[in-house]
Amino acid sequence: MNLTELDLCGLKEAIDAGRCSALEATTAYLERIEALNPAINAYHEVYAQRALDQARLADEGHRPGPLSGLPISIKDNLCTEYGRTTCSSRMLAEFEAPYTATVVKRLEAAGAVILGKTNMDEFAMGSSSEHCAWGPVRNPWDTERGPGGSAGGAAAAAAAWLCAGGLGSDTGGSIRQPAAYCGVVGLKPTYGRVSRYGLVAFASSLDQIGPVTRSVRDSALLMNVISGHDPLDSTSSSHPVDDFLAGLEEPPARLRIGLARQYLGEGNHAAVKAAVDQAVKILSGAGAQIIEVDLPHTEYGIPTYYIVATSEASSNLARYDGVHYGHRTRNAKDLVDLYAASRAEGFGDEVKRRIMLGTYALSSGYFDAYYVRALKVRRLIRRDFDQAFENCDVLLCPTTTDPAFVAGKNADDPLSMYLNDVYTVNANLAGIPGISIPGGLAEVDGVALPVGVQLLGPMFEEARLLRIARLLEREIGLGLCPPVVSRV
Ligand code: GLN
Repeated sequence: MNLTELDLCGLKEAIDAGRCSALEATTAYLERIEALNPAINAYHEVYAQRALDQARLADEGHRPGPLSGLPISIKDNLCTEYGRTTCSSRMLAEFEAPYTATVVKRLEAAGAVILGKTNMDEFAMGSSSEHCAWGPVRNPWDTERGPGGSAGGAAAAAAAWLCAGGLGSDTGGSIRQPAAYCGVVGLKPTYGRVSRYGLVAFASSLDQIGPVTRSVRDSALLMNVISGHDPLDSTSSSHPVDDFLAGLEEPPARLRIGLARQYLGEGNHAAVKAAVDQAVKILSGAGAQIIEVDLPHTEYGIPTYYIVATSEASSNLARYDGVHYGHRTRNAKDLVDLYAASRAEGFGDEVKRRIMLGTYALSSGYFDAYYVRALKVRRLIRRDFDQAFENCDVLLCPTTTDPAFVAGKNADDPLSMYLNDVYTVNANLAGIPGISIPGGLAEVDGVALPVGVQLLGPMFEEARLLRIARLLEREIGLGLCPPVVSRV
């Protein structure tokens, strides 16, 4: 048996039943990473020795929780006391965090084996995983294409069986969009559901950590471990945590599925449209009522997001000045020059663009016109969702307009790149949860590429999203497998 073909829950059953050891599973993943990572570039750092030690411990009977012995990847913006936390930036190339993120502590307390850190767009800013100081990540379905971003490494690793599951972060779609492009499951939890302590901040009012997995049940399993209040994150919620695995197989009764015209326009690729149609058919076949809803402020999502996110980023990234944090230039004439040159050398172009946009939006004279206005529109977007959820239980929509694009396509066109996030950013602006699951395959230039369908729900209704996602997954029948998986 190829152990890497099992999802997290499958591997858990195999280990619990004694059909394989944690050490065998971790070894299989490490061998696979060695063989395939040079082509995919999903990982920046692999903690081979540490992972083997953790696996051995599990085999020796140290089984503290539901992830005992399961090999998991983490995005390179999650701090760990071991290894480096680089955010795929030269700025943090040598950064060794003095503490470990709460989510990683929770994974390890549940017995997980941490395989390594996955590549991403620098500081999580991007939709292609090309803005990565350690080279672009490739899509396992077609290495000419990107995996999406910013958690492209996490999604590519899950899709190419380079981890059993992983954690990413989602500020405007960074879990869901790469999950859609790579044919895996990506869940962005409600804002506050998962502690952000130890997540390197991009835009603090939007960032959330969530699972990137091969199946819906794995997403539920990881959510069980990472959710809940954390005194170290003042924005984390004490809302009670559901058992996301319990009831996962029971289709919810009397479902009302909302379809918003604003998400189903002409701009969608035929395969994306077909995937949504198929999902509608499956859900109505299961007795759901399909309801048309209106989200009138949808079109303002992108400009609003790119003001709020860049404003927060410009403030969050002020600390990387070569003195407090980060790369320090070797050739500074004086202190001001030290700050300027350290930042100029340490940050990549996209991060600089965002810092400039955000600084402009917050500057006196423009603050009211941009930032304050964006906050007002953000409120309207949130109200759209509140009103929609008075009439439906979840919204069904595409995750992206198209399947994965060819690497470099939008490299000189930031606006086109930003427009990629049109179906994902509004969930972050509103704070609501969203999940992307594989919806089917598109045929593009003779290559089969996955497309995603997305479910959006009211605050703290992850359990509902997961149950409906499971219903769809059962019918759509994926485990989608990219061709690369059979190569090793
Ligand atoms: N693609 C979006 C951006 O570039 C979202 C990134 C994210 O969610 N981290 O900002």
